[in-house]
Amino acid sequence: MENTAPNSLIAGIPAARLAAFAAREGRRFAASRPVSARIKTPEYLGGVPMHWMTDWPMPHLPVIAQGKGARITDIDGYQIDDFCLGDTGSMFGHSPPAVAAAIRAQAKRGLTYMLPSVEVLEVGQLLTATFGPFHWQIATTATDANRFAIRVARAVTGRRKILVFHGCYHGTVDDVMVELGADGHTQNRAGLMGQVADLTLGAVACEFNDLAGVEEALAQGDIAAILTEPVMTNSCMVLPEQGFHDGLRDLATRYGALLMMDETHTISTGIGGYTGVHGLRPDIFVAGKCVAGGVPTAIWGLSPDIAARYHAANAARAAGHSGMGTTLSANPLQFAALRATLADVMTPAAYAHMDKLANRLATGLAEVIARHGAPWHVVRVGARVEFICAAGPLRNGTDAIAAHCHTAESAVHVALLNRGSLIAPFHNMMLISPATKKGQVDRLMTAFDEVLGALFTAKDAA
Ligand code: PMP
Repeated sequence: MENTAPNSLIAGIPAARLAAFAAREGRRFAASRPVSARIKTPEYLGGVPMHWMTDWPMPHLPVIAQGKGARITDIDGYQIDDFCLGDTGSMFGHSPPAVAAAIRAQAKRGLTYMLPSVEVLEVGQLLTATFGPFHWQIATTATDANRFAIRVARAVTGRRKILVFHGCYHGTVDDVMVELGADGHTQNRAGLMGQVADLTLGAVACEFNDLAGVEEALAQGDIAAILTEPVMTNSCMVLPEQGFHDGLRDLATRYGALLMMDETHTISTGIGGYTGVHGLRPDIFVAGKCVAGGVPTAIWGLSPDIAARYHAANAARAAGHSGMGTTLSANPLQFAALRATLADVMTPAAYAHMDKLANRLATGLAEVIARHGAPWHVVRVGARVEFICAAGPLRNGTDAIAAHCHTAESAVHVALLNRGSLIAPFHNMMLISPATKKGQVDRLMTAFDEVLGALFTAKDAA
């Protein structure tokens, strides 16, 4: 719970000063977007077509007229440097030209037929060349991909539980919506709506970077898979400590559990994701969001060994529905967009550009933080950069959850948007796309400097 007494500090900022700053920036935003403000949509539940949209911190939402490259334009006429990029869905920029062309071409040939299109051959080869020799399936969301992969893990091991890390997020996958309670035991995550199941029967939570805790859980003998991101990205970002991934691989093998790597966010690392760049050896690989350049698509793949075990389990099961799959998955539009993204967008040159500018951004933000004496830090995984409103490094989900500071973060987000830069609403995440320009990065750093100046070093600072 944040202490908001006027003379207390919130993320190192005097509470009264932060409150005044947040109010000023909120007023500035509201006054700047009269056209968006007039758009009211009570036909939607809560006034928005997807309830997460109410998580943005602005007094009202800017309505977007278009997105192109690394910029979106709202109906009030503002051109906004977009570092949120659809929370990774548009990590390769809005409508990458090759993807837009593929969509246009496919639009003349039908959008879904539940039969393979001509691209499947090339896409299969591209997936394997990019991510490794997995046996692939196409899904529509990363949530679905994780759900199906979890089924496979349970089916081939004959075990019930999935081990996840406290503070993780792998989509709205009911099976793993658990966390560590104050008493150190796994419990259903707080806040789940309409959840009637005891999820602890099928999942167990451990702390990231805690191999001893993982081993203790695995030793129970009922864990089908460890499901993890290579870097925890969904609280404040937590990097793996030296030896953590090798340890996970060894422990999974020793105790007969599978290792599932969810690269939906860490695909920012480079070609092949963190797995490809750092030579990890998962049994199951999952990615979604940006893999088809913004067309809703996810991929999941089984290592050859697990694929063989899948076929055996599939042959042995009773006739009936497997509980896996969705009607519009693996449709020809997804394949057209996947082909374009894998072949023409996700290139070494694109990643080199993303990495270089992300490094510039991370270094620049860290300098600004140091200059203003803010007790904050910066973390980067390839094209993904995050400033965290607490000292680092963070070791695990408990640290990451404690480091979140909603009051400070939302004020900074609105202030950055008032200065032309949009960052992700859920964490202080900024993505660099192949279309992002150095000038956009520099503008964001200048805005960040101004914001921290107002919060930490202005004359009236306490
Ligand atoms: N895995 C990870 C690591 C994610 O961060 C997310 C979403 N933020 C998902 C899976 C689920 O993606 P989607 O919402 O597109 O299903």
